[in-house]
Amino acid sequence: ESYISRLSLTEPHLHSFLHISDTLLRDAQLIDRKIEKGEDVGPLAGVLVGVKDNICTADMPSTGGSRILENYKAPFDATAVRRVKEKDGILIGKTNLDEFGMGSTTEASSFQVTANPWDLSRVPGGSSGGSAAAVSARQCMVSLGSDTGGSVRQPASFCGVVGLKPTYGRVSRFGLMAYASSLDVIGCFGTSVADTGILLHVISGHDRFDATSSNREVPDFSSQFTSINLVESKPLKGLKVGLIRETLEDGVDNGVKSAISGAASHLEELGCTVTEVSLPSFSLGLPAYYILASSESSSNLSRYDGVRYGNQVFAEELNALYNDSRAKGFGPEVQMRILMGTYALSAGYYDAYYKRAQQVRTLIRKSFKDALDDNDILISPVAPSAAYKIGEKKNDPLAMYAGDIMTVRISLLLYV
Ligand code: GLN
Repeated sequence: ESYISRLSLTEPHLHSFLHISDTLLRDAQLIDRKIEKGEDVGPLAGVLVGVKDNICTADMPSTGGSRILENYKAPFDATAVRRVKEKDGILIGKTNLDEFGMGSTTEASSFQVTANPWDLSRVPGGSSGGSAAAVSARQCMVSLGSDTGGSVRQPASFCGVVGLKPTYGRVSRFGLMAYASSLDVIGCFGTSVADTGILLHVISGHDRFDATSSNREVPDFSSQFTSINLVESKPLKGLKVGLIRETLEDGVDNGVKSAISGAASHLEELGCTVTEVSLPSFSLGLPAYYILASSESSSNLSRYDGVRYGNQVFAEELNALYNDSRAKGFGPEVQMRILMGTYALSAGYYDAYYKRAQQVRTLIRKSFKDALDDNDILISPVAPSAAYKIGEKKNDPLAMYAGDIMTVRISLLLYV
């Protein structure tokens, strides 16, 4: 009840949610009853979980932030959602996002712009901006997002919460609307590392519905966080931390630089040694990512044809039906990505763009591998600046893409 009243207070200012569950109290009472009866309950018992709207849920609409799926209801729960429910988590609602995950601010949502809870004139980041803002404003306790090139990490940073992008394959993508299948992962937001670890533990693990999900055993990510006094016990003693030099060069705000050096000294206090490390080919990450992500999306989004899913614009003739449904259903950013991707994949340009971008992927993997030969952990800022003003970058796609420079490289690795 207290979360419902908090929602009615905050949501008119924030617009984090595209849909709020109408069975919230009933779901909570069911868990209460289980506890009263002394039945076993899962680690998420009574925990309110927000779910990004490109992750399918059977009981609520799943629009992907797109008009083409307005009012669409999936016939099943995504595996991550099913696992949350099995561990007694309560779905509070579906959170706003840039259409199909394409964007960095939620301004590319077809429905609404989410505000940053710390300053309503600023964006919460994106594409999982609704999930980050909802946790930051304590509208829910934890939330699920998706990260293709930074969409969990960057909004977490902009909203001051913990955001975790798991390794590709750690969490099943079954029921996540595909943006770029070789990069997409479902990730978690929380107000603490421990909470985020608990949620990750629940949703991780192999899934027979996703052939790319990993068979590796799932460690209990949260077990290490109980009542450790980090400063006294120095659990990080001896860890070698590499601060990526190229992430602190020109174009990075001074405030970001000083936050990172503060974090580096804190790690030193906890027993780490921090040294600078260079990742050559740093600047290649951004163009390679945008070629690959657009190419994959141009193929993935072909399923939205006005016939199989979502909204249809009636036309006398089949091609016109496809064209009109897509022209009306897709927003401008998505149309631009499809055009870029189709161009990069077309016969005459494939070698020059797509193939080269795949080669860059290999180069990037090598540079990370080398850096990790000498270091246990690498650190960098999440973004070159703090949250932008709403509208500041909306009409300048290249400036918007440039803001992803820190996060896209690690997405290009499947593993190191
Ligand atoms: N901002 C990046 C993009 O628009 C990353 C998005 C994401 O991770 N889904 O592609």
